[in-house]
Amino acid sequence: MKKNKIRKKIIEIRKGLDSKTVDSNSRKILKKLFRMEEFRRAKKVMFYSSFGNEVSTEKMIEKSLKLKKQVFLPKILKGKIVPVQIENLKELVLGKFGILEPKVTMECRLRPADFDVIIVPGVAFDKNCNRIGFGKGYFDRFLKTQKAKKIGLAHSFQIVKKIPAGKFDVPMDLVITEKNIFRKARIEAHE
Ligand code: ADP
Ligand code: MG
Repeated sequence: MKKNKIRKKIIEIRKGLDSKTVDSNSRKILKKLFRMEEFRRAKKVMFYSSFGNEVSTEKMIEKSLKLKKQVFLPKILKGKIVPVQIENLKELVLGKFGILEPKVTMECRLRPADFDVIIVPGVAFDKNCNRIGFGKGYFDRFLKTQKAKKIGLAHSFQIVKKIPAGKFDVPMDLVITEKNIFRKARIEAHE
């Protein structure tokens, strides 16, 4: 299936979710995430600000702040994702697309290697951790410079058979759903 068709179909299904399912899936995904060694070790973590029926990151952010991790959220500045550190969920303001984002006061121009983990939203993923977003390529452009572990979060119906990834699409290292953890297959180099 073409990317556009998958995007439309999954967005439509996600719209129909009830908030109980979103909450319960998000809680299960939180547990899986906080049990992972890669995440537990992480000191600098970038989350996304969830909206609509996306897997909710609110509790994950609260918990990370309590655990004294450095938490960053994306802010759209001049059409680009810029990570901004936050210390409290209450300091967020409505940004572009009606998504909560930090004020610019703590804007950080982090070096690409500075994050340990980046938690990435998505419309659809496949089992090999390819990703489809909202169709604007914001995360592709941001992630291409980032060395961090990239973890996508999704409800299990957002996992599709195969995503026809293009040259700009940045795959995730891991995708977590309420049912599974998918890891990107590593192709071993043979001389
Ligand atoms: P999404 O990842 O949000 O699903 P797409 O992958 O379809 O969206 O990308 C949307 C647009 O952004 C495409 O036209 C794509 O070519 C462009 N794009 C994505 N990443 C880059 C990049 N690194 N450099 C230039 N253009 C890019
Ligand atoms: Mg893409």
